[in-house]
Amino acid sequence: MKGTINNAPSCADPTDPNSISVAQALSQIEAKTVALDQSVLLPIRECLGRICSEAIHSNMNVPGHANSAMDGYAIAFSDLRKGHIATFEEIGCSFAGRSLDAVCKPGQCVRIMTGAVIPEGCDTVIMQEQTEPRDNGLVAVDSNHQLGENVRQAGEDIKQNAVILNQGDKIGPADLGVLASLGISQLNVFRKPIVAFMSTGDELVSVDKPLKKGQIYDSNRYTLFGMLTQLEVGIMDLGVIQDDFQSIRSALLGAAEKADLVITTGGVSVGQADFIKTALEDIGQPDFWKIAIKPGRPLTFGKINDSLFIGLPGNPVAVMVTFNHFVIPALRKLSGARPTQAPVVRATSIEKMRKRAGRMEIQRGIASLTVDGRWQVCKTGKQGSGILTSMTRGNCFILLREDSNGVEIGDSIEIQLFDWSQV
Ligand code: AMP
Ligand code: MG
Repeated sequence: MKGTINNAPSCADPTDPNSISVAQALSQIEAKTVALDQSVLLPIRECLGRICSEAIHSNMNVPGHANSAMDGYAIAFSDLRKGHIATFEEIGCSFAGRSLDAVCKPGQCVRIMTGAVIPEGCDTVIMQEQTEPRDNGLVAVDSNHQLGENVRQAGEDIKQNAVILNQGDKIGPADLGVLASLGISQLNVFRKPIVAFMSTGDELVSVDKPLKKGQIYDSNRYTLFGMLTQLEVGIMDLGVIQDDFQSIRSALLGAAEKADLVITTGGVSVGQADFIKTALEDIGQPDFWKIAIKPGRPLTFGKINDSLFIGLPGNPVAVMVTFNHFVIPALRKLSGARPTQAPVVRATSIEKMRKRAGRMEIQRGIASLTVDGRWQVCKTGKQGSGILTSMTRGNCFILLREDSNGVEIGDSIEIQLFDWSQV
């Protein structure tokens, strides 16, 4: 029989009328995700990596007093005369933590150590190396100096009442130091979101069991464990769920009771064993279920009661790509953090890449720096969404936008590094 059949839209098509764009998917995730508003008061060291839930103002000046930035002599600048050498009588010594309680009069100086409080009557510190001892115990200083040199002014790092942290800031090592320098020992941070995850598929076997014909080991729960553990979230591994509507439905309901975000992998396509979308329609509110992206087109997003739900595809590479692109922004919002994107840099392609316009493609690449400090990139090889070793071989995602028609050698393209240790 001659002729053609009417193909339904599929991942073989560059465009699919049921798919939404990556930008639309991200803005729907942003709109539907509500930040958790519960916070916990923790000792500051436990706040590292967490999201600050309240603005913090400084309760004092740092430094609290003007102090010396050098070992030397504290003097009054007005004692120096242009073109002349001045001599000073040393009246004592001021140490960090043991300041000299004396008033310096004209013609007098104080020997001072780094960090020691500037004595009353002084405004300038002359480095020890720029002074000369004289026989009669005097200290000689020439006039090549500036008012206030080598003096750290009170409040020059932090002024009293200045904003130190804003709500939504992620606490880094420097923040811990700044908090400590203000004597702040505890901080309110948002509680960690709880993320439950499970794999779906009758073919999946856990790593400690032998494989029968047609079975495969479940790798998605391991990559998900790894990616989630690197974030500040609580995790619940709910194991493997069989491809059965009732099992999936009750697993999703149970997970949504315990977790703020439920993630599944697999079962989101149009196959006869793909029940995620129908289960979500039954117990929750699906938002979208197809994105114009490769890999990762079938991705179901929605809510189950108060929990967010993200049904990732089953293919192992698609899981990692979509986790980075869609789950991380959702988790940022849920955690109370301000939205930020992983940095995108431009690199010169050293190979040709085929692509049809219509959907975004995220390929795995190997980026390196040329001798003159520019990024260059090539693909990791085969880009099938089941080739998980493309993620272990690669160190970056290559972002080929919707309108790209492919890449020629020498084209400047966008990459997102995910592994700096492999550059
Ligand atoms: P699905 O979306 O369920 O049709 O799965 C797509 C492909 O990914 C199939 O080849 C599955 O066998 C595979 N797959 C699904 N889940 C996993 C998993 N947890 N680990 C490894 N491969 C999987
Ligand atoms: Mg499946």
